[in-house]
Amino acid sequence: MLFLNDNMLNVVNTQQGPRHQHLHHVYLNNNILSVGDEVMAEIDHEKRFYTMKNHSGTHILHAAIREVLGTTAMQAGSFNNENGLRIDITFNRPITPAEIEKIQKVVDREIKAATPREVYNVSMNDAVNKYHALAFFTEKYDDIVRVVKFGDFSSELCGGTHVENTSDIEQLMITGVESKGSGVFRFSALTSVKTITNYLNDEFVKLRSEISDLISKYNETKSELASKDLEKVYDEIFAFTISVNNLALIKTKISEFKELYKTYSKQAKDKIGSKNIAKYLETEPTNNEIKLIVDLNMDEMKMLGDVFKNKYQDLVVILVNESAKMLVVTVSESIANEKSAIEIFNSIKDYNVRGGGNKTLAQGKII
Ligand SMILES: [Zn+2]
Repeated sequence: MLFLNDNMLNVVNTQQGPRHQHLHHVYLNNNILSVGDEVMAEIDHEKRFYTMKNHSGTHILHAAIREVLGTTAMQAGSFNNENGLRIDITFNRPITPAEIEKIQKVVDREIKAATPREVYNVSMNDAVNKYHALAFFTEKYDDIVRVVKFGDFSSELCGGTHVENTSDIEQLMITGVESKGSGVFRFSALTSVKTITNYLNDEFVKLRSEISDLISKYNETKSELASKDLEKVYDEIFAFTISVNNLALIKTKISEFKELYKTYSKQAKDKIGSKNIAKYLETEPTNNEIKLIVDLNMDEMKMLGDVFKNKYQDLVVILVNESAKMLVVTVSESIANEKSAIEIFNSIKDYNVRGGGNKTLAQGKII
């Protein structure tokens, strides 16, 4: 930020001028800036504090990637600010979860080592040969370049702002590795305990909310059919303490819960359906036809139709739920060629119906 008299102006961008001047872009709002005015520049300490961690984190992650994947893994670009960092890497094959875990371990090791940062302003020749800095020869460099080094682990040409030693990064978490196509992989990461804790809190809330619908549905049906397995996994999902290690575990448990729920919901539907259709089962056909007003949902109406067709031969079943405005016609296979379900459905006179189906089953809405 800049101070003009006592007014604070937010710096929205900085650039270097042709003679290395620092150019600040600010919005003046209602202030007037005249030639000869003195302004005071001050860094945004919080922004700088987190940007330094993320920038040094970028160097450490980059070196870790190359330690694990080898030097054929080339950086194709990187970005960092106060909120996080990412590195694009070109690599000739997909990166495995085991490799990502290994890269994370190398980063953890380097942060723990508390390696001090070294900075050298030297010739390009010294940078490359003496300090073994990674230089990207597609870029244009000045005669004197700046080398940022963390021990023997990382050495890069860089003009950026960095922490004093690797332990100042506090913590680095790889939050994702995605393929961007044409052999480019994007590593995203966060640094600092505070940022990672906030991220994890958000992730845990988001993940747990993924199953809240299923939980509500389960609560509605559990008096009819309870599932100890589902309840056990549910308890486990909510018992996890929020941590980096538990993130993968909770994701696995949530997939497990969703799978278990699929099986459960079929069983619950069958059980509740059987119970709901019971009161209609005594109905007998007249002239090979059963016509009933029912209080059932669509699945249960089809279930009831099937039960009747198994019980009686050459049967036409017409089921109507007037309050839910639904109608189902189902016809035994044996007579479906002469009396097709869809034709019967379309020629119904008592209701205006709209729907579809085939020879043995037709369904739709009463409009
Ligand atoms: Zn850098």
